[in-house]
Amino acid sequence: MRRISIFGATGSIGENTIDLVRRQGGPEAFRTVALTGGRNVTRLAELARELDADIAVTAYPECLGALREALAGSRTEAAAGPEALAEAADRPVDWTMSAIVGAAGLVPGLRSLRHGGTLALANKESLVCAGALMMAEAVRHGARILPVDSEHSAIFQALQGEDRARAERVIITASGGPFRDWTAAQLAAATPEQAAAHPNWVMGQRISIDSASLFNKALEMIEAREFFGFAPEQIEVLVHPQSIVHALVGFADGGLMAHLGPADMRHAIGYALSWPDRAALPVERLDLARIGQLEFRAPDEMRFPAVRLAREVMARGGLAGAAFNAAKEAALDAFLAAEIRFPDMAGCVEAVLGQLDAAGNLTSATIDLDKVQAVDHLARLKTAEAARKTGKN
Ligand code: NDP
Repeated sequence: MRRISIFGATGSIGENTIDLVRRQGGPEAFRTVALTGGRNVTRLAELARELDADIAVTAYPECLGALREALAGSRTEAAAGPEALAEAADRPVDWTMSAIVGAAGLVPGLRSLRHGGTLALANKESLVCAGALMMAEAVRHGARILPVDSEHSAIFQALQGEDRARAERVIITASGGPFRDWTAAQLAAATPEQAAAHPNWVMGQRISIDSASLFNKALEMIEAREFFGFAPEQIEVLVHPQSIVHALVGFADGGLMAHLGPADMRHAIGYALSWPDRAALPVERLDLARIGQLEFRAPDEMRFPAVRLAREVMARGGLAGAAFNAAKEAALDAFLAAEIRFPDMAGCVEAVLGQLDAAGNLTSATIDLDKVQAVDHLARLKTAEAARKTGKN
């Protein structure tokens, strides 16, 4: 029986993963080792009971009592806190879903690579913060990392059977989010609720707002570099409002291989769950005649500077990715707390990257976890300071 663990089980990707696990036989077909969540311990316990998990872990020690209570009478062990998450990742499994949101997903992802097996990676932040480290750890322990982000799954699928060396560019698409056609003045007045209302995809609040600011696309550009080894100048972004074409790979002969699919994460999750096979999946079959038109346009980097910042981060290298991700997460916290306006997020991130670079904090010939965590911490502090200053002006 295939052993699985799901980190971030109570989130949007986690629930979609469990939907597929359930449809493919649930506890009859899979032995669930660990399920993890954050504050939603009621749901975590429900899922753990349903899948008969060995252990359920909440990220927050103050939620342990409630989790224990919700699991009473079941055979599932309860645990809490970041160390418990890492220890759950040490338990050997064949397939792990990494779907915690944010840099908090890095350590569990890294630790799960140590027992080999497959890591299905939705947590793009871990590659942005520490791509070289993740990849080296996978090689060292004979583990396989499969992409779950729809764009990277699309690239991965377009590269199947191809000579990677003959791929000369990748194009990842962005819907443009709810603010695609908003003016700068409208963006300045945007609320978190408006920013989280994605037109095509149903996702967690944070990634939805990152989609509206194109910070999500910026992370994905860096993820494409780390995952597939494309050079920064080989990675392009196109705004594609229909979210049907997820990515294209351009080959040396001028041909482009596009991957098309419905805006349903169960396609990419299901692909990673069944790879190298393709399972029948419960997703909509596209009717292109009904869709009629597929549009593409260049992103507006004036209104959405995140794409430009991603290029600068890739050119900078070293610890720039870790600082960028942490600054972005802290800027999003400040926006959610109504301390800064929507466009200020990019301003704060750019200012903090500049400060850290000038102070030599982004330079490092090698990447290790301590260095990544130190720059992450610093970037969060600096961004909170920058946000307070910006908010007062
Ligand atoms: P959600 O916000 O829906 O879910 C996040 C999960 O992480 C929940 O289980 C949450 O627990 C848990 N969590 C929150 N904070 C912490 C923490 N500090 N430590 C440990 N666990 C925590 O996010 P999504 O499912 O949307 O996204 C998850 C990841 O997948 C992100 O990296 C995102 O970028 C990526 N991704 C998501 C896509 C999507 O369609 N949603 C598409 C492509 C990539 P709880 O809810 O119980 O508090």
